[in-house]
Amino acid sequence: MNFDLDPADAAFQAEMRAFIRQALPADIARRGRQGFHATHDDVQAWMRILNARGLAAVHWPRQHGGTDWSPLRRHLFQVELRAAGTPVPDQAALELVGPVIYTFGDEVQKARYLPAILNADTFWCQGFSEPNSGSDLASLKTRAVRDGDHYVVNGQKTWTSEAHKADMMFALVRTDGEARPQAGISFLLIDMKSPGVSVRPIYTINEGLSVNEVFLDNVRVPAENLVGEENRGWGYAKFLLTNERTMSAETPHTAFDLEQVKQIAAVERRGGRPLIEDPLFAARLARFEIELRALEAAVLRVLHMGENDPALNATASVLKLRGSELRQRIADLAVEALGDHGLAVFPDVEGQDNMDVLAPVPPAPDYAAGWLSRAMFRRATTIYGGANEIQRTIIAKSVLGL
Ligand SMILES: Cc1cc2nc3c(=O)[nH]c(=O)nc-3n(C[C@H](O)[C@H](O)[C@H](O)COP(=O)(O)OP(=O)(O)OC[C@H]3O[C@@H](n4cnc5c(N)ncnc54)[C@H](O)[C@@H]3O)c2cc1C
Repeated sequence: MNFDLDPADAAFQAEMRAFIRQALPADIARRGRQGFHATHDDVQAWMRILNARGLAAVHWPRQHGGTDWSPLRRHLFQVELRAAGTPVPDQAALELVGPVIYTFGDEVQKARYLPAILNADTFWCQGFSEPNSGSDLASLKTRAVRDGDHYVVNGQKTWTSEAHKADMMFALVRTDGEARPQAGISFLLIDMKSPGVSVRPIYTINEGLSVNEVFLDNVRVPAENLVGEENRGWGYAKFLLTNERTMSAETPHTAFDLEQVKQIAAVERRGGRPLIEDPLFAARLARFEIELRALEAAVLRVLHMGENDPALNATASVLKLRGSELRQRIADLAVEALGDHGLAVFPDVEGQDNMDVLAPVPPAPDYAAGWLSRAMFRRATTIYGGANEIQRTIIAKSVLGL
């Protein structure tokens, strides 16, 4: 298989690379390369630079502020963004709720929410999972009861990524307790500043803060914040979850990680020579490169598929499965390549304004930054976006007919 780009796509890639390198502020780039969760301010600043160029959501349709680029060009752009260390944007907004709003939302919702997402004026979080409803999402219990021109919402969400920074939450709520589980669910947009919303942090194994519990206590949500039709939310959620699984392959991130591992292995020494010259280690790197290339090719195939392609569901599950495992294994390889430096803990930067003052314990070179933390947090890649055991069941049913 030939992975070379044709001249027009190669020129496009070079143009985007040059634009990103020139437009990305140096301090944001340095923090991005350290691999921690990006701060709210960095994400916002970078998104606004992209938006000014019409590049905030290149995968959206042009009429909603996107582009008409080919899937390959959209992919190349993402690879270049990651390679330059740009902050990871608000994916809940750009990848998840944005497409739901422009596909199923009304004109008022499109006008209100889409430009604010593109300009990072509004940050979003995803309120799907509940304490007893994760894999079995359709059993969710958060209730929304219609009261005049409002819904009154009561319940609890959990594992809600970035809820502590979010302005809005898109939530699945039960609006019909009598219907079969999937038929009684609606898709509601909830202002996080509404009275009755409270957020409690969950600190993860790397001592970082990205996930939260969200409590909803008699929260009044305007009925105009219902997306699509009442009790049809499960259909919109399935559309969103397919996008989420495809995104979960995260190949541009993995490509960035692999490059970093190569750089580490070129500096770290074992047995009197750079690690990268060790044939066994080099062979492992090559194996990762091959797996990554194969996964990229599969992602591109999915991006070319129509939304209604019957193979989409299972293929998205395959991408999620392979991509999440690869992300974990590469982070583990980086820590291994770092040797003693792999033990260095860089104090987590969440909520801190100035990362540059943070020194690792014990002392370690810059290139060790964040890897131990990343490797620990990566345990979650095989859980979020739908646990991998569930993806295997989807594949077993829809591909193998079991
Ligand atoms: C870091 C992180 C971020 C997240 N962010 C969000 C977010 O922003 N918004 C949101 O709504 N959710 C979020 N989640 C939640 C995530 O979607 C759920 O954790 C996931 O769907 C699994 O659900 P659960 O945790 O309830 O586990 P459970 O469903 O209780 O599963 C526990 C274990 O049992 C296995 N299992 C369950 N059922 C079956 C079955 N039928 N067959 C075989 N094995 C099974 C699972 O695979 C898993 O290994 C996040 C999770 C993590 C870890």
